[in-house]
Amino acid sequence: MATARRAAILPERPAPAAYDADCRRCSRLVAFLDEVRAKNPGYRCRPVPPFGAPDAALVVVGLAPGQRGANASGRPFTGDHAGIILYATLHAYGFASQPVAIARDDGLVLDDCRITNAVKCLPPGNKPEPAEIRACNGYLAADLSAVPAGGAILALGRVAHDATLRALRLKPSALPFAHGARHPLANGVVLFDSYHCSRYNTNTRRLTAPMFRAVFDAIAVHRRRGIRGRTTLSRQPA
Ligand code: SF4
Repeated sequence: MATARRAAILPERPAPAAYDADCRRCSRLVAFLDEVRAKNPGYRCRPVPPFGAPDAALVVVGLAPGQRGANASGRPFTGDHAGIILYATLHAYGFASQPVAIARDDGLVLDDCRITNAVKCLPPGNKPEPAEIRACNGYLAADLSAVPAGGAILALGRVAHDATLRALRLKPSALPFAHGARHPLANGVVLFDSYHCSRYNTNTRRLTAPMFRAVFDAIAVHRRRGIRGRTTLSRQPA
């Protein structure tokens, strides 16, 4: 099934390197993880893997693990504030089995959805450096390599948007980030943009729940038109 669905949006080339739990390429981030681990022995403090099936029709791309969220739990957006609105919305649109994500063993299952980050390791101040984004870009390319024809990618914030385009060998300047934007790519795949669902953005109401739902409404419309016979992504919020 996965093979039949696959229609790579990456140009023909050797497959990008998949996620590596032992990667220590970014010395600044490795040192920071060692520091955070020493203070918080229960935290995972390693590169955080993508969550969800490799050929899922929706891939959500965040920025990087949050210190007390993904960095601690080992699953994207799990256990922190940013995950509250994300998982509630994914659940409302049928992509997640439950609206709350608190730990890796909380039983939550994604349905035709994958969540990953542009940078797999916790950066100080939630701000990865450009060289770190570039160093991690091959892993993001691997995360995106099996998006099926007619699929969707949701970039949370400009950094995720630019990293996604770079991973797909496209120039970020050609498709600038804008909240609510819809960028058609190859093979019917569309890149959707949203402000990041961070605590800062939701507390300041830069991103509200209705704004976020409007992005998912657009994704649902795209999916209804994109793949006949598949209904998973066309669900409306409960
Ligand atoms: S951010 Fe990415 S490239 Fe850098 S050490 Fe972590 S996994 Fe490796």
